[in-house]
Amino acid sequence: MSDQEITDQDPELAAPADADQGYDDDYDYDDDGVDMGVARGMRSDYCGELTVDDADREVSLCGWVDNRREHGEKLAFIDLRDHTGIIQCVVDEKHDLRREYVVRITGTVVARPEGMENPFLDTGAIDVQNCTVEVLNKAETPPFSVNSRQEIDETLRLKHRYIDMRRERMQRNLRYRSIVQSAVRGAMEDQGFTEIETPLLIASTPEGARDFVVPSRQQPGTFYALPQSPQIFKQLCMVGGMDRYYQIAKCLRDEDLRADRQFEFAQLDAEASFVGQDEVIEFISYAVAAATDAVRGVWPEEIPQMTYADAMEFYGSDKPDIRFDMTLVELTPLFEGTEANVFKTECVKGIVAKGGADEIARNRIDELTEMCKRWGAKGLAWFRVGDGLELDGGLTKFMSADELSGLPQMMGAEEGDLILLQSGDRRSVNDVLGRLRLEIGQPPIDEGLAFVWVVDFPMFEVINDQGNPVAMHHPFTMPHEDDVDYLVRQGGESMLKIRSQAYDLVLNGWELGSGSVRIHDPEIQRRVFAALGLSDEEAAEKFGFLLDAFSYGAPPHAGFAFGIDRLTALLLGETNIREVIAFPKTQSGQDPLTNAPSAIADNHLTELGLRVLPPAE
Ligand code: ASP
Repeated sequence: MSDQEITDQDPELAAPADADQGYDDDYDYDDDGVDMGVARGMRSDYCGELTVDDADREVSLCGWVDNRREHGEKLAFIDLRDHTGIIQCVVDEKHDLRREYVVRITGTVVARPEGMENPFLDTGAIDVQNCTVEVLNKAETPPFSVNSRQEIDETLRLKHRYIDMRRERMQRNLRYRSIVQSAVRGAMEDQGFTEIETPLLIASTPEGARDFVVPSRQQPGTFYALPQSPQIFKQLCMVGGMDRYYQIAKCLRDEDLRADRQFEFAQLDAEASFVGQDEVIEFISYAVAAATDAVRGVWPEEIPQMTYADAMEFYGSDKPDIRFDMTLVELTPLFEGTEANVFKTECVKGIVAKGGADEIARNRIDELTEMCKRWGAKGLAWFRVGDGLELDGGLTKFMSADELSGLPQMMGAEEGDLILLQSGDRRSVNDVLGRLRLEIGQPPIDEGLAFVWVVDFPMFEVINDQGNPVAMHHPFTMPHEDDVDYLVRQGGESMLKIRSQAYDLVLNGWELGSGSVRIHDPEIQRRVFAALGLSDEEAAEKFGFLLDAFSYGAPPHAGFAFGIDRLTALLLGETNIREVIAFPKTQSGQDPLTNAPSAIADNHLTELGLRVLPPAE
């Protein structure tokens, strides 16, 4: 056979996918620490492991036919694929091998002549010749090609997830997910944490989302809730003297699905006794650093901290993406006493788009204005900065000379920049500018990871329609030491000023997780329940068991939880957590593979004491 024939490869098929995603592509997830010599079953070797050093060896390989190319009348090139890679096998034509057939091929490893290697294939320096083929199973033509580089409709991918999993992306993502989990487990064990499993069928944990419920057959008319988190149990473990608990826990929350949210997700859940915020930050920073190192091969620097108040003021978000600046600038004093009606408001702030005067065209500004309106703003004020810092924009005619000269100065703007302003109440100004910042300042997709701890969260988020504050984190969070007394003295809106000992970990603008120092004093816990509008009876009915437990000697304790799915996705440069979950649900909460959720039989309903009503109007 001539050299030319042996290198008859389709480079398209073998080109490395998404080579620039930032994770350590050389990380050897196949055999790191694994004795690959053990229990190989029907094969002697794995496709991707073979090198020129194996030349002349007889090998048996098992896998799927990735591709087949005819060669004259007698021979075919078969690309054989297993989870470690692809190798070319030269096979006798009489086998009718089609894509995705499952085969065992036995043959001799042969080095390709110099200059005839295939640079797109890791095993491109060799192939397997004189092959004997056993077909272990045939396959229908798959609904999409396993080696296609094209985007495939996601619902189709999920309907045939087992085929999608054969593709490089899922192979890589799921194996890295496992690496993340074992790095995190290892990090927690290193720090003296013990893994404890908590139940799935529970009462209810107040994390603020809707519960998924499971009807009880033995007590018809009653329901278990699936855990929104193991929160209560981990605190009980602390009362039980377990000292340091962790678990990679499945949590379930019935909320609308998004790119970073599924009904069920995995989190590293942790709790420790006789420690406070600083120690939790240390434990958790160590665990995420270990995961980052395992995937990317770099141990991140110490994670910076920012107060919630600063995050809101400078980034307009409690999950600031600090990979780029474009921070929100305070302009309220500049517009004090202004003649311009739009700026006669509680708060005026702005951001600068560097070079935006030219880059951001008029129709884009109109688009941004529409977005701001959708986010609840009245509109968007904009100014192009020209020669000598002169401003150009529809509102300049309403502004005083001081305002016109002060604005570019306070914004630190230069010629060629675009200044964007919002005015109104402080909350919405921050919120709208924060979103606008993300919209126009999108950081380049690169390997940069920007972790930040956001600390000093407020205790309560909003006042609800009944006039009661709603817990920002959850009701077991300890108020800030200096603010405990305000819990009873204050009422109404001023409650929103009470700080808590709660903290979040943020990565590239995604909330990775949350935690807090917990209340261990039943009296403070009662006061928080009361502040939330729970009467003593209601608190006793819902959480009596917890208050009881606290009365038997609860140690001071604190904890945290972060999303394994989110961390893995960000480490791998994926923008949707579905890409790192084996069998996720679609945006509408369905599983196209198994057709969940589905109706259940009438007799099953009867057994559970249930009757299904027609859908509400
Ligand atoms: N239970 C919280 C959550 O799942 C985390 C924590 O406070 O430890 O978000």
